[in-house]
Amino acid sequence: MDAAAAYWWEAIREKRLLVQRCTSCSLVQHPPGPWCRRCRSATTLEWTPHPGTGRIVSFTEVFRTTYPEFQSELPYWIVMIELAPGAVMVSNLVRADGEAGNRAPRIGDAVELAYRERGGTTVPVFALAEQEPAR
Ligand SMILES: [Zn+2]
Repeated sequence: MDAAAAYWWEAIREKRLLVQRCTSCSLVQHPPGPWCRRCRSATTLEWTPHPGTGRIVSFTEVFRTTYPEFQSELPYWIVMIELAPGAVMVSNLVRADGEAGNRAPRIGDAVELAYRERGGTTVPVFALAEQEPAR
């Protein structure tokens, strides 16, 4: 794990989602890295909080797992979430209490960040948004 990833996971343990924003070209990027993926600057990245809202751009449904902590959740979805243009995150989609959270995901669905404890650590997961945010 590099320094940027370590810092990001430290924030996740405090239930804060951070993304990197370039002060030179304004790109918001995730996963974190040592330089801006658009303008290649290594000195203009700053950490900024993200509200944890986004849209599903891809997903797959998992029916078998070798991870004991996921056995009780089968089947589950692994989702690719676009947090912002240039910022994409892979995570799990968890079921919410509401009706929307119990249906299969679709490309373009709005999601909201949640946190779960897995294997002794805090991990970011997503649930389908209750309300469709304005586009
Ligand atoms: Zn940049």
